[in-house]
Amino acid sequence: MSNVKSYIESVKDQIQHRDPDQSEFQEAAFTVLDSLEPTLEAHPEYVKANLLSRLVEPERAIQFRVPWQSDDGQFHVNRGFRVQFNSAIGPYKGGLRLHPSVNLSVVKFLGFEQILKNSLTGLPIGGAKGGSDFDPKGKSDSEVMRFCQSFMTELQRHIGPDLDVPAGDIGVGGREIGYLFGAYKRLKGYQNGVLTGKGLTFGGSLARTQATGFGLLYYTNALIKAQGDTLTGKRIKISGAGNVATYAIQKATELGAKVITVSDSNGYIYDPKGIDYKIVKQIKEVERGRIRDYADRVASAEYHGGSVWDFDVDYDIALPCATQNEINKDQAKLIAKDGVKYVCEGANMPSYPDAIAVYRDSGLLYGPAKAANAGGVAVSALEMSQNSERLSWSFETVDNRLQDIMEDIFEKSKAADQKYHLDKNYQAGANIAGFEKVATAMMAQGL
Ligand code: GLU
Repeated sequence: MSNVKSYIESVKDQIQHRDPDQSEFQEAAFTVLDSLEPTLEAHPEYVKANLLSRLVEPERAIQFRVPWQSDDGQFHVNRGFRVQFNSAIGPYKGGLRLHPSVNLSVVKFLGFEQILKNSLTGLPIGGAKGGSDFDPKGKSDSEVMRFCQSFMTELQRHIGPDLDVPAGDIGVGGREIGYLFGAYKRLKGYQNGVLTGKGLTFGGSLARTQATGFGLLYYTNALIKAQGDTLTGKRIKISGAGNVATYAIQKATELGAKVITVSDSNGYIYDPKGIDYKIVKQIKEVERGRIRDYADRVASAEYHGGSVWDFDVDYDIALPCATQNEINKDQAKLIAKDGVKYVCEGANMPSYPDAIAVYRDSGLLYGPAKAANAGGVAVSALEMSQNSERLSWSFETVDNRLQDIMEDIFEKSKAADQKYHLDKNYQAGANIAGFEKVATAMMAQGL
């Protein structure tokens, strides 16, 4: 085994030893560590400085109690987290997730991914993530508000416009950011840049809502174009029906492709004529309903229970936009068998590592989440810029910058892939490109 390989193994052992139960974090960290081998071979100083051990240990991990009262007068306690992973290139930045599956391992995996994702955007933002195991599903507006106020009562002491700037993620959209912002303001005063994803009337950025979904398509388009191929006429399977999926459907359709599925945790819609994002938006955002309602409104649409990734149909592009680990090895085999050429991730880590291995073995081109879904956080960083200069840019200005950023992310990933002869491994390319910027900053700043 080479020195570099054994160094990587020793860092993995350290993670395993310290956090044996953190499977999501291990999955994310091990994948990244393995892919960094070529850059570590080229930069022995990174090994000497033990950069990897420093990279996988959060600068700070905060866990706190979130007590709140439901409408029926009962008292509840949830667990809140903020993991401030790495501030080498800028203030901590990353979303807050509200979902029953949230625990320290999930927040650490997301925070770790965020370091490299944020680096890839080319903007000055470090990596962080937070959230709670609170389930917003089925809660009233006032329950969500009380929870957000309680959550912010603790979080406020750890964040600030130049320190740590949270935003949304699963379960945290415009409504929750509004409540969180209001709670922060009461405790600390008006500081526009303390959260991103804000409403347009109080410092939010145009195109932030659309950013992750649009960005996914800009990235996917760049990847496809680089193969001499085109999005026009392609059939796309999308999973999820949240913010990322909705705007991915819109942009895919505008770019001349046809999205044939959309899903939620219960089942999926198949519409060979193409999904209409406006109906998805109405059901999910306005009515806060279930995706099966789509079939009642559109004659050509069918609803089926179960995972959209078990549904056998011919198509060209898979865009998983639901959640982590939604595609296993067998589902990846079905994706390959169905004739898919490209898989680009809108959700964070939707494919298990052995599913990614299947993509590679089958010759599929794979755009990993940290590159493909970086549009959300990129526009968050643009929101921070607008807040700093107390100006609002037009939709077109933000959208154009988003497009440039996503194309640049693909170009950087491709350049790293070519430099280290990785044979169109855009996952490793993204990891290396993201890491090299952070590593340079960490080296320059000393221990
Ligand atoms: N939650 C998004 C992500 O996974 C956006 C984070 C942000 O805007 O800070 O990147």
